Amino acid sequence: MSERTDRAMITQANLKTLCSNALSYGAINAAPISARKVIVDPRVRLKCAIPVCDGYGRCLMCPPNIISVQEFTVALERFNDAIVIQFEIKVDKEKMEGKIGSMELGALRLDTDYEAMLSSSMKRMSKALINLERDALHLGYRFTTALSAGNCRLCDECVGQGKGKQCRHPFEARPAAEALGIDVFATAALAGMPIEFPAKRPVWTSILLVD
Ligand code: SF4
Repeated sequence: MSERTDRAMITQANLKTLCSNALSYGAINAAPISARKVIVDPRVRLKCAIPVCDGYGRCLMCPPNIISVQEFTVALERFNDAIVIQFEIKVDKEKMEGKIGSMELGALRLDTDYEAMLSSSMKRMSKALINLERDALHLGYRFTTALSAGNCRLCDECVGQGKGKQCRHPFEARPAAEALGIDVFATAALAGMPIEFPAKRPVWTSILLVD
């Protein structure tokens, strides 16, 4: 067997291990995908600004506070593999009764129960992603980078942009895949885990770039 075939087999085995670790950390789906199939589309970043998302310019992990889609695309080209990972957003049916699907999005975003639901699931996802990034580093993938979903909710309120403002959790906070221009819907579909819209079982979809 050639050295190249050996390497490919080891990579497949390691990606499988990382997917199974993701499930053990609370993910509901995880699948490897070639980094060539991670779809970047500048229209995704456009949707951060128009209509403006509540994290835009306010969250340190959201545009325009993060690297540009162009800069990200150049780095993405150097990766060989990725893993698409989904985490359930657990909906408290009692608290959310008559809200999701009925309230106008702007009002829903101000709802404390809605925000608490997003925040608790996002924190669980963030912890799992950091664990996975560490696992991949231990397997020798030194450039591995975890990309989250949605705006960062590790703090109740982000420190925001401005001179001297520093992230409170610099090693845990990650930009969302979509904030870097990744078409998460198209990429998840290519990984065999299409995102329902509107969703009966809402999920966060994150991406681990492995190399
Ligand atoms: S960890 Fe806190 S300060 Fe850092 S980006 Fe997230 S919300 Fe902002």
